[in-house]
Amino acid sequence: MSDKLARDISELNLSPPSTSSSSSLPPNAHVNGAGYSTTAHTSISDHHHHHNTQPSSSSSSSSSPTTHHPKPSTRPAPRAIDSPLAIRPASPYTLNPPIDSDGLSWPSVGARKRIDSTPEEAELREKRISDAVKVILEELGEDTNREGLLETPERYARAMLYFTKGYEDNIRDVIKRAVFEEDHDEMVIVRDIEIYSLCEHHLVPFFGKVHIGYIPNKKVLGLSKLARLAEMYARRFQVQERLTKQIAMALKEILKPQGVAVVIEATHMCMVSRGIQKTGSSTVTSCMLGCFREAQKTREEFLGLLGKR
Ligand SMILES: [Zn+2]
Repeated sequence: MSDKLARDISELNLSPPSTSSSSSLPPNAHVNGAGYSTTAHTSISDHHHHHNTQPSSSSSSSSSPTTHHPKPSTRPAPRAIDSPLAIRPASPYTLNPPIDSDGLSWPSVGARKRIDSTPEEAELREKRISDAVKVILEELGEDTNREGLLETPERYARAMLYFTKGYEDNIRDVIKRAVFEEDHDEMVIVRDIEIYSLCEHHLVPFFGKVHIGYIPNKKVLGLSKLARLAEMYARRFQVQERLTKQIAMALKEILKPQGVAVVIEATHMCMVSRGIQKTGSSTVTSCMLGCFREAQKTREEFLGLLGKR
């Protein structure tokens, strides 16, 4: 391993969380003081067409930073970080940094256990999941002994383990050997990265495309790694807003670039299949950091290159 790589990797874990406090602002509130913005925009349309988002353009009217709302509590306050995720009331999930000490990046409580399991333990896990699926099928009125369903619980267990394989990914492995010193300060964009994720509220898929842009500050990431980063966070139980921010924040941590922009357009099965959202419509979320947030021109150039303006 080269010194430079070792340095790059060690840097990933060295940014201490700031002490700024989370507040109890409503969801989707813009937080100016934290230097982040996020917009969620769902458009309903009969065509495969949606309206433009205008990330953070409306958020510059208020100049007051996030205010501190101390709350009496018997439990120790969760550690807050300087994070766009701190726009919601404190939860261990929203307050974790995107890159944590062991590089797992926002693990669920069982992620470590899952990664460290022996082949025997992995087999037992798969068996427990399929037993549970069998119960679900029976409770739904099915005959789990009929031919078509005989191996469905096992298949489903394996499918779910695949759909959530991002829990087993380590961000250091994902970006391994792909951070390069480069005297390049022009915008880098990878668009139309396909993602398949699972809505954590309904456990059904949402899928669509991620567009990632950044302006380097002497360091660039191998292009294919941008897609790997998106994949790592998508293969977990997610909400689209968080997925958007995690990708942006991870990239910010890894490269310390001048700015990062992430836009996700996705279709949610929990919405379209229940008629809440029409088929063909999509939900658009964006997270703009650094110069993408501060400079309207930069943001517009990015959205222009995505064909969103
Ligand atoms: Zn859902």
